[in-house]
Amino acid sequence: MSVKFQDYYKILGVDRNASEKDIRKAYRKLARKYHPDLQPPEKKEEAEEKFKEINEAYEVLIDPEKRKKYDRFGPNWQHGDDFTAYQQQQQQQRTGRGFEGAPFDFEDLGDVSFSFGGRQGAGGFSDFFESIFGGGFTSERARRSAGQRRPRRGADVEAEMEAELEDIYHGREKQFQLAIQDLCHQCGGTGILERNFCPACGGSGYVSNLRTIKVKVPRDARDGKKIRLKGQGGEAEPGGERGDLYLKIKIAPHRTFTVKGDDLEADLLVFPWQAALGDKVTAPAPEGTVRVTVPPRTHSGHKLRLRGKGMPRKDGSRGDLFLRVVVDIPRDIGPDDEELYRKLAQSRS
Ligand SMILES: [Zn+2]
Repeated sequence: MSVKFQDYYKILGVDRNASEKDIRKAYRKLARKYHPDLQPPEKKEEAEEKFKEINEAYEVLIDPEKRKKYDRFGPNWQHGDDFTAYQQQQQQQRTGRGFEGAPFDFEDLGDVSFSFGGRQGAGGFSDFFESIFGGGFTSERARRSAGQRRPRRGADVEAEMEAELEDIYHGREKQFQLAIQDLCHQCGGTGILERNFCPACGGSGYVSNLRTIKVKVPRDARDGKKIRLKGQGGEAEPGGERGDLYLKIKIAPHRTFTVKGDDLEADLLVFPWQAALGDKVTAPAPEGTVRVTVPPRTHSGHKLRLRGKGMPRKDGSRGDLFLRVVVDIPRDIGPDDEELYRKLAQSRS
C-alpha cells in the first residue's frame, strides 16, 4: 500500500511553529470558505473534499499529542511519498523482531496502534491519517463516518483574581463575574445559520457570557498560584465536556504587611527610650495585634521574628512574621521633652 504524505501545515496555510491560536484562526477561515453548505451546487463536491482535508489537518495540528507525532514523522516523507518502508518497520516491531537503524524513536509513540488491514470508515480520514493515528481512533472514525464527530471539549480559561490578605487568612469566599466563552446557541456552534454566517456570533460559533464565579480562597494562596475550577471554562460542543477555569492569584497590596513567600513583614514603630531601655509594645499582626518585647539596645532596622505568625500554609502550619524596628520620636514633643533631650545632648558631647 502506498500512502501519500499530506502536509497539514500547508493545507491550513500556517507556519510549522504556528501557535494553537494561529491554527484555530486559519482553520476557522478556511472552514468557512469551503463549508459545503455555502457552495453553489456545481462546486459542492470539490468543496467537500477540501473541507474534509482542512478538518483532518486541524484535527491533528490542534491536538498537541497528535501534532507531536505528526511532526516526528513529517520529515521522513521528504525522500518520497511512499510509506512502505515505514510500514515494514512497523510490522517488524509488532512481530518482535529487531529494528536497528529504524529512523524513528518508537518509545515515544506510546499508545499509537497501526492498522494496515482492511479500511474501515471510508470517507472519514485519509489513508495517511489512518496510517499514523490508525486503530486508536477507530471509534472516532466510526462516529465520523456515521456523520458525527467527537464533540470537542470546551476551552480552558485563565483569569486573574485579586485576593486581599484577609481573604487568604480567613479562607473567605469570593464572588465575581467573568466573561466566559459559550457555544452560540443560535447556530449550535457551527457559525453558520441558513447558509449564512450566524448573526448572533458573527460566524465564530462562540459568544461571551457573563458568569458568576464563586470560589473559596485557599489558605495557601500566593502571588501567581493558580486555582483550577473544573468544568467552569468554555462551553463544549453538545455532548462534550466544559473546559476548566484557572484563576491566577494576585495578592492585593496591604497597608501594613508585605508578603514574602510564607512570611510577612511589617514596620514596628519604637520610641528612642524604648529602643534604648527595652519595653513591651503592641505590634501589628494579621489577626489583630500582639504584644512583643523590644530588647534593650535595639537599633533601627533590626528585625524581630515572631514564629508562626506569618502566612497560613496548606498543612496548617504558618510562616513567620518579621517586625522591622523603626526608631522615631513622637510627634508631640513639648518643652519638658525638649529639656530632657537637651540634657541627653549635653551628656553625649
Ligand atoms: Zn452563532
